[in-house]
Amino acid sequence: LDGPLYADIAGDMQVSFEFFPPKTEKMEEQLWSSIRSLEPLGPRFVSVTYGAGGSTRERTHATVARIQRETGLAAAAHLTCVEATREEIDAVAQEYWAAGVRHIVALRGDAPAQGARYAAHPGGYDNAAALVAGLKRLHPFEVSVAAYPECHPDSADATADLDNLRRKIDAGANRAITQFFFEPETFFRYRDAVAAAGIQAEIVPGIMPVTNFASVTRMAAMCGTAVPSWMARLFEGLDDHPGARQLIAATLAAELCRKLYAGDVRSFHFYTLNRAELAYAICHLLGVRAQAQAQEVAA
Ligand code: FAD
Repeated sequence: LDGPLYADIAGDMQVSFEFFPPKTEKMEEQLWSSIRSLEPLGPRFVSVTYGAGGSTRERTHATVARIQRETGLAAAAHLTCVEATREEIDAVAQEYWAAGVRHIVALRGDAPAQGARYAAHPGGYDNAAALVAGLKRLHPFEVSVAAYPECHPDSADATADLDNLRRKIDAGANRAITQFFFEPETFFRYRDAVAAAGIQAEIVPGIMPVTNFASVTRMAAMCGTAVPSWMARLFEGLDDHPGARQLIAATLAAELCRKLYAGDVRSFHFYTLNRAELAYAICHLLGVRAQAQAQEVAA
């Protein structure tokens, strides 16, 4: 067996969940129902993404502030450097601090036109490392940054990519969350490379449960994630079987987490796409239980 049985994984891990800001009232209802379902699992934080070019600035802020205000969760706000001056970005960060938000996921972001080369705003932060330093000058925020087990497409090579991670950690980032990946070895190789480069940072795997294979393949191509051929085969012929795709998504993501757990990983960040069931099912398989329920079992 290549790792523990699910029955032997006792939920001795930390989980976090990522959401995106809703566009419509209906999406907002779905998001809030997901947040309420996942809240009892006691995540260490939940984060809300920032749309390309700052397009979701208000919605991200409203969502993060409401989570912070109305739930017992620690909310983290994603923030990018795209198309904004340093003063504008600092003002957004100040609003977060005033709203009680203490955790920022600091990112460079991408060019607003898909596929275009990134260009820093003349009066803005050049990259994520500069943003981390700027945030830390403002307040003692907890800061997470992005990491790329398969190398960011703009990095010349793996060494340049690691140097960039080092700059972000040296600027004060507390941890790095990875881009999604599908093979546990991809994560282990990266974790080893980070350690060999002398970078001391918590590297949290970003877990993307795949229900829509075509759309994940498109996203993977843009961000340089390899999609294994066995995965294509597992989704063949399932276009009209959404229920089966959900079950397969949960199985594959749980298997990935189980193998990561066998390699001593104890933190997982889930890309939820605002749906709770998959993340909930995977956490359940890993022994993560609603807190009231866990207390009842222990009593
Ligand atoms: P950086 O760390 O700044 O690096 C980007 C590239 O530039 C790297 O290849 C690096 O090597 C190179 N580089 C940076 N500085 C230098 C330098 N001084 N010299 C040479 N090369 C340099 N995007 C969004 O728009 N909104 C989100 O909410 C969002 N959330 C994300 C969450 C996670 C966990 C992850 C993994 C990604 C997320 N992204 C998000 C995507 C991210 O914005 C893109 O991947 C973007 O292309 C890079 O952002 P970064 O913060 O990694 O950039």
